[in-house]
Amino acid sequence: MGQRIPARQINPKPTKKLPSSFEKTIITRSYQGLFRNLRLYSTALLLALFFITVWLNWDGRQAVLWDVAHGQFYIFGATFWPQDLILLSALLIICAFGLFFLTVLAGRIWCGYSCPQSVWTWIFLRIEHITEGERHQRIKLDAAPWSLVKILRRTAKHSLWLIVSAVTALTFVGYFTPIRAMSLDLLNFSVGGLSLFWLALFTAATYLNAGWLREQVCLHMCPYSRFQSVMFDDSTLLVSYDAQRGEKRGSRKKTSDAQSLDLGDCIDCTLCVQVCPTGIDIRDGLQLACISCGACVDVCNDVMTQMGYAPNLISYTSERALAGQQTQWLRPRLIGYAATLLLMFAGIYWGLENRALVALDVSKDRLMFRENNDGQIENIYLLKIINKTQHPQDYRIDMQAPKNLRLSAPKQVQLGAGEIATVAITVSQLEEASTALTPLIFTVSDTANPSIFSSSASNFTAPLAR
Ligand code: SF4
Ligand code: SF4
Repeated sequence: MGQRIPARQINPKPTKKLPSSFEKTIITRSYQGLFRNLRLYSTALLLALFFITVWLNWDGRQAVLWDVAHGQFYIFGATFWPQDLILLSALLIICAFGLFFLTVLAGRIWCGYSCPQSVWTWIFLRIEHITEGERHQRIKLDAAPWSLVKILRRTAKHSLWLIVSAVTALTFVGYFTPIRAMSLDLLNFSVGGLSLFWLALFTAATYLNAGWLREQVCLHMCPYSRFQSVMFDDSTLLVSYDAQRGEKRGSRKKTSDAQSLDLGDCIDCTLCVQVCPTGIDIRDGLQLACISCGACVDVCNDVMTQMGYAPNLISYTSERALAGQQTQWLRPRLIGYAATLLLMFAGIYWGLENRALVALDVSKDRLMFRENNDGQIENIYLLKIINKTQHPQDYRIDMQAPKNLRLSAPKQVQLGAGEIATVAITVSQLEEASTALTPLIFTVSDTANPSIFSSSASNFTAPLAR
């Protein structure tokens, strides 16, 4: 007792702050280039898919709709039911493996070109550029006191952001609630409370994420950014600065001889930092915040061209290539992911091809057994039949059971597209059996195509001795 543990005060070195923080708004400048165009095309394609698909109709109803109320997922000609959830789960696993494959191949390329957070941030940045001007004008406007011009510009920007957010929310919610009916209800001010709640929530989420949080989502909220770096290897294509070639950096005239000035190819114009949506300086090396968007590559290539230097001082390259070695394209991890993806695609294709288009669920009546008018023991069953197709179908009910059991069921059951029907049937015992419990199997099959069928097992119960 009374002994003290020796301790000393440690003042940790101040850590380098992340380039972007909530105190600092990143104001990017516009630029041109190959990767910007690639992103524009990929973004345009994805946006078109997102905004147009929801309005397409198929067989008289919305082509892609996750009908939460009825537990059905329509995708063009196919209907998926909760029983098919395994296929949808497999699809999600394929997406995850696709992402892993892309990450090993080319780092965070998904983030830079296709991630909804990045795509909507680019849209909002474009609106900011249209309403508030180029980077230097936006910096000036930020610092300027409030004036009529500032109020008008800011109002225009936020109004456009809100419009884009509302259209995004309507589209997204439209994949879960029929969009045409919901839009009409909105126009008539008669939209339901639940739809209104989701519309308001997704409008607010889009506005906040793409307008205000932007790169903070990538830095602090996205789980993918946390683990993606452990998937990189020395042949992964990452946006990198060739320090050997670029250093020592320094400004110079276009006509100057860099060698005699003991300078590398980087003219320290900081344009690569000014275009970066996450506000980092790629010349400091690979960073968690880099989303591989290629903006710095484009702008630096432009500078290199203007200076008459070779391009790709910043480029998509691998650690091996930077060290003067060959990038290995065929490597075990990449092949492993590709093989897994192929296998899973084959599996899901097989699953889709062999998906049961009718489902049967049998439940036995609470009454164990009863005696009918002929003095025979009888069991009652409820058959829940689901027509998983989008067309009316006729089904036939059969039973596989010992000969002393007789099925009494409708000859044919007609179900409409996507209809669920509950049919009560009875099974009676013609002769006494030595066992109290007899297993049996019920089957429903499409009358036009008996290969479409579904089975379910149950039991027949009878008293042992009468
Ligand atoms: S854009 Fe290129 S030249 Fe300009 S600072 Fe960045 S790396 Fe150096
Ligand atoms: S460093 Fe370059 S590639 Fe990475 S996020 Fe910034 S601009 Fe995009």
